Amino acid sequence: MPFRTEGLDELRRKADIVAVVSQTVALRRQGQRLVGLCPFHQEKSPSFSVSSERGLFYCFGCHAGGDVIDYVMKRDGFSFPDAVAFLAAEFHVEMPEEEATPEAAQRQERRQVLLRLLEAAQERFSRHLAGPEGEGARRYLAGRGLTGDDSARFDLGYALGGDDICRSLKATPELLLEAGLGAKSQGGRLYDRFRERVTFAIRDRAGHIVGFGGRILGEGQPKYLNSAETPLFHKGSILYGWSWAQRTMREQQAVTLVEGYMDAIALHRHGFPATVATLGTSLTDDHARQLGRAVKRAYLAFDSDAAGQAAVRRSAEPLLQQGIEVLVAQPRGGKDPDELLRAPEGTATWQKTLEQAAPVTDWLFAMAGRAHDAASPEGKAAIAQEVFTAIRAVQSPLVRDEELRRLAARLEVREEALRLEFQRGARSGDRMHTLASPRNSTRNTAVATKTPEWLPIERQLLALASQYPSRAAEIRTACRPLHDQTLDAALELAASGKDVSATEDGAVRSAWAEASLAVDLAEAEVAKTIARWAQAGIRLRLNEVNRHIRELLESGQAVDPSLLVLSHELLRELGASAKGGGEQRP
Ligand SMILES: [Zn+2]
Repeated sequence: MPFRTEGLDELRRKADIVAVVSQTVALRRQGQRLVGLCPFHQEKSPSFSVSSERGLFYCFGCHAGGDVIDYVMKRDGFSFPDAVAFLAAEFHVEMPEEEATPEAAQRQERRQVLLRLLEAAQERFSRHLAGPEGEGARRYLAGRGLTGDDSARFDLGYALGGDDICRSLKATPELLLEAGLGAKSQGGRLYDRFRERVTFAIRDRAGHIVGFGGRILGEGQPKYLNSAETPLFHKGSILYGWSWAQRTMREQQAVTLVEGYMDAIALHRHGFPATVATLGTSLTDDHARQLGRAVKRAYLAFDSDAAGQAAVRRSAEPLLQQGIEVLVAQPRGGKDPDELLRAPEGTATWQKTLEQAAPVTDWLFAMAGRAHDAASPEGKAAIAQEVFTAIRAVQSPLVRDEELRRLAARLEVREEALRLEFQRGARSGDRMHTLASPRNSTRNTAVATKTPEWLPIERQLLALASQYPSRAAEIRTACRPLHDQTLDAALELAASGKDVSATEDGAVRSAWAEASLAVDLAEAEVAKTIARWAQAGIRLRLNEVNRHIRELLESGQAVDPSLLVLSHELLRELGASAKGGGEQRP
């Protein structure tokens, strides 16, 4: 951990959780507690409560909980160190210097040096854009409707040729390479990565510049260029515009996803600030997880060309798996958002485009309808398969059910036949996981569906691993893998003796924080909880097998005898394990 514990204790004491929560949530007193509408899930009556004297928050609806640092991490999407830094500044707490290992200290110091170097590069880029050498770049930007004010607001700049950055910034070649500002020729010569390009500074969620994008002026390839992957810059986890978008995103519980810098900037300028862009990569699971913690709904506003359509298909699944409602916003006439907004009445047209955005299943239906004959049974089956890909990723059984009902009506087929087709694909395909084991983080599953039996057990396992570190390896061996991926990752780290709070993955870190804040448990609970976990696993499988049998019977199909055998075996196993668990009790 990068901070000493006494510093953190003082921070937790001074950073008033009520003040922090009240920045965005209206709280009212109810007995000892303060309650309000939960900022992390949609609700009509308040199940979110805050205890000022204990410095904790907890939501009885979605089970989000923790201390003031967890709250800021969750609300603002900050990493642990960034949340600590934010609160320390807000409440004027001096954090003592870390007493970390020399390696960790060195890494931290190196990171600071790189961040400063990137800031310095941005200063230089922005100076060039304003100066005489930036005339061509300014003309290009003006042609896209961007003025000098926009340049400052959106961190634009201009990179000169002639290795200006490598020569002018006082840094070693290694640092310039590591910051992604320099590149090496085959002959080993260091040169500027960004040359004669309009530059876009790319910030992480805490607002630090971690890389750049550059658009070439005039002709040439590639048209757009990003920083290479560096210790600070990972395309697969950065969403461009997040630091400007986050407040509105959380207020509106919605985000618009676009493909590039210019589209993102155009939407921000025209009053649609809840917009972020992927950086020439498809949306990753990591992106989706970050969004899943911030919003309930995503509008995909990609180009309407083949590449844009492919991007919609690829992005929908990870978002749906996070419990996010996915809509496709494609303006008429095939224009991209930037073009459209510059046209007369652009803002109103875009507003309308959002209002008319289609659920992704409708969009898939329309697309498949162009490729297949919706009148023939084969065509109907083919269309159904394409829409199933999205329906399978939907986490809420209620929504999934409703989607199937709608699809049957639109295809004009019997609903039962469609459901059979849907289940058949799910059992033979590789998508079993979406039905059997939610890949979601703890918090998101809880929003849309009933909390599964294993979830509180797995939380308790992690709490025990935190409270009795010497038993962590034993828990790991007995319970593998946990159904919840986040908890599983945390347990894995804890069992291997690593500092879980130092992990890169924010979800894992906050799950660990929550586990560490859990009520004290007796050590005897270790064995009992392991036994309960095993039983829950068997019960889960048993329920699935039985449900499958019931569905077959209800639809008048033959039931494979091996299914009945399996059901019996599981039942017996359950009985045996219940007895085994009982014997372990004192
Ligand atoms: Zn909640």
